[in-house]
Amino acid sequence: MTRSFTYAALPMRVVFGADSLSSLPTEISALGFERVLVLCGPRQEALGKQIVATLGDRAVGILPEAVMHVPAAVAARAVDVASQLGADSCLAVGGGSSIGLGKAVAKELGLPVVAVPTTYAGSEMTPVWGLTTNGVKRTGRDSRVLPVSVIYDPSLTVSMPASLSVTSGFNAIAHAVEGLYAPDASPIVSLMAVEGATSLATALPGVASDISDLSARSTALYGAWLCGAVLGATTMSLHHKLCHALGGTLNLPHAETHTVVLPHVLAFNAPAAPAAVAALSRAFDCSDPARYLFDLADSLGAPGSLAELGMAFADIDRVADAVAESSYANPRPASRNEIAALLRAAWEGALN
Ligand code: NAD
Repeated sequence: MTRSFTYAALPMRVVFGADSLSSLPTEISALGFERVLVLCGPRQEALGKQIVATLGDRAVGILPEAVMHVPAAVAARAVDVASQLGADSCLAVGGGSSIGLGKAVAKELGLPVVAVPTTYAGSEMTPVWGLTTNGVKRTGRDSRVLPVSVIYDPSLTVSMPASLSVTSGFNAIAHAVEGLYAPDASPIVSLMAVEGATSLATALPGVASDISDLSARSTALYGAWLCGAVLGATTMSLHHKLCHALGGTLNLPHAETHTVVLPHVLAFNAPAAPAAVAALSRAFDCSDPARYLFDLADSLGAPGSLAELGMAFADIDRVADAVAESSYANPRPASRNEIAALLRAAWEGALN
């Protein structure tokens, strides 16, 4: 076998560890930021205010208005607030929605973002922004939106309920799975994918049985970091295209949709991605990684079907058409009928 690949490292700092949030003031000083705007969702407002207090006069304000998929109006407001306050940087604390809002400000004003993730979604490791206008979400890559520093503190994740922890973990595993068969996969990124998927699959049962287990939380967040790095370094395929279409057209919940769809896409792609299947089989110590993920999600009480998430059977054709008409990378070409069949299986929750 001859190897051929391109690898570009993304420039960022990662500070990882329980209580690493306490290093935030030092981190902000080292970066030279003096006017930090804190961005978070309404449910993270208390944590956001705690960060504002910790930063003292280096924080210029807080905007607790982040919501899923970065509506353009919310992004515009954050840009206005950052401009009016003369912010020199944003600190986004929360899940992908908060970090997405920080990226929207970075895209518009060029302000650097520091991220403090509290879920496993992985946005903090990518230069990908998203913006939703009139129900249509656009995404793009821009190196300015990649956070300059990321503080991973597992103790901030213990407040995630078991259900969100599990589905958010599967959301992260999906990045690893698709990174392994990505057209731009490379050896170091594949190592991160395997380590990330292994860490999450190992940690999630412990997290689900005791959400305050800091050791399991640490392993899960470590896995989420690696899976996020894979997402930032590779081109995602059919799975992400399907989840994007399901979320965009039907407003299905992000992490739950990833959890339901992933085993079906992996089973479909498996014949065309033997190296990825071999790597995942070793990672999960199993012979069929799609079945393994399906059973793991089920054993952890995750939703098992798109029907359970509220999708109407009649919508299968609409989503299949939208995906078939779009372009995306995938190791196995998928016809419109194959996509519809995959969606039907995911809708029923029956892995073929
Ligand atoms: P989210 O940020 O909306 O969080 C989900 C829910 O969990 C919210 O209600 C939030 O308040 C709550 N929450 C967050 N952290 C919590 C905690 N520690 N304890 C209790 N509750 C908590 O959702 P998400 O799944 O983190 O991110 C999904 C969004 O991020 C989507 O819009 C997705 O498209 C985007 N995303 C973007 C990228 C990228 O590279 N651009 C990557 C991954 C996800």
